[in-house]
Amino acid sequence: MKYKSTRGDVNGLGFSDALLMGLASDNGLLIPEEIPDVSNALAEYRTLDFIGLAQALMPLFIDDIDRATLDRLVSESYATFAHDEVIGWRQLDNIAVMELFHGPTLAFKDIALQLLGKLFQHVLSERGERLNILGATSGDTGSAAIAGVRGQDNVDIFILFPEGRISPLQELQMTTVPDANVHCIGVQGSFDDCQRLMKTVFSDAAYKAKYSLGAVNSVNWARILAQIVYYAYASLRYPDGARFSVPTGNFGNVFAAYIAQRMGFPIRQLLVATNDNDILARFFATGTYARGDVHQTLSPAMDIQVASNFERFLYYHFDEDSARLRRFMEEFAQHGEASVGSPPAPSLLNAMAIGRHETLAAMDSVQAKYGYTLDPHTAVGYAAAQKGGLEDAVVVATAHPAKFPDAVSEATGEQPTHPTLEALVNQPTRKDDLAADLDAVKAYVALRATTQG
Ligand SMILES: *Cc1c(COP(=O)(O)O)cnc(C)c1O
Repeated sequence: MKYKSTRGDVNGLGFSDALLMGLASDNGLLIPEEIPDVSNALAEYRTLDFIGLAQALMPLFIDDIDRATLDRLVSESYATFAHDEVIGWRQLDNIAVMELFHGPTLAFKDIALQLLGKLFQHVLSERGERLNILGATSGDTGSAAIAGVRGQDNVDIFILFPEGRISPLQELQMTTVPDANVHCIGVQGSFDDCQRLMKTVFSDAAYKAKYSLGAVNSVNWARILAQIVYYAYASLRYPDGARFSVPTGNFGNVFAAYIAQRMGFPIRQLLVATNDNDILARFFATGTYARGDVHQTLSPAMDIQVASNFERFLYYHFDEDSARLRRFMEEFAQHGEASVGSPPAPSLLNAMAIGRHETLAAMDSVQAKYGYTLDPHTAVGYAAAQKGGLEDAVVVATAHPAKFPDAVSEATGEQPTHPTLEALVNQPTRKDDLAADLDAVKAYVALRATTQG
């Protein structure tokens, strides 16, 4: 399988090169040249467990790592999960909750980032290269990315997070990691500022090459790839087609479901559930993608206005027309707004915005009725599934509730805990603070990045 950019100027990359490139060098996003069709293999896939299915799907997209090595990297990645089946499943009447938070940092991002860490380590050691990872986090990516690469000798990792806008526990999950290859940076600004700084650093090709920069944000194709597996796995329980409600920020998680559907897995509906940061809900209602103000909500990992993976969806929406996509993205960059004309026909994808009150009410009623605790992100997905009347919905549970104890206790009066998080309190921490300033970030990384000999 080869990879190409949504913007049309990068083609024919092997998987390992796509992994290391992160954001495409023409500022587009990398995608496979073709989407494999698995419709004839569904019966066989139905017999596999989660790890077996991951091992069956990876080679369709990765042909420059041998099969035995790939199998090993996949099984090592999921050995760190606390759940036998990697993902958990909880039926609440006709709504199923697919728990993706049994990894080391208790958020769904572990599923992709544990694998990404192993893939980086393998490819870099084969090539005798080093990488400096630069990432921006709205809370969960940072710790999950750090957990994927901490202690590796061929990687340094730099994580930008919006100071004071992620939960104290999320901050501790990053800043208590003692490994010398980990660098946590609190930025005076919003997550969008962090993401914009990261993207601007990456767009400086000379700087990117000089410091061997790599990406772990969901701009990295390998993350989408790993996330396809759980949609595939869950969909096979619904021969007539699964309906997923996906709490959405950067559109990475729901985009993986979209690819799984295009591969031929039985998926009927994808509900893009947003919080008050509703740019995607407005897009699916009106066809206009218009930047709004960033609101702080109970679900901070979704406090995003500009969804970096949306470009991948638009590319397919525009029938793979890179020129049209490029015009759209340029118009959006210039005016903060761009339109596709009429709204996309609401067949596969729909969107719904859920406010603060509805989020709290969902957490409260699920706790009261089932004795089950939703985290505030999952609650947005649950509330959207109910409000949208999604039959037999699968709600994608993206974080363990103990990561967001304040929101949970506001809703239910109970304070959820988890031993992994309790162990962090009173540990020594390390971080540096920076202004939301491009030169400051570049200087910081330049000073600490380890470069090739
Ligand atoms: C990252 C994250 C999301 C949003 O996922 P995207 O891929 O950005 O849409 C939702 N919930 C939690 C808990 C997250 O960490």
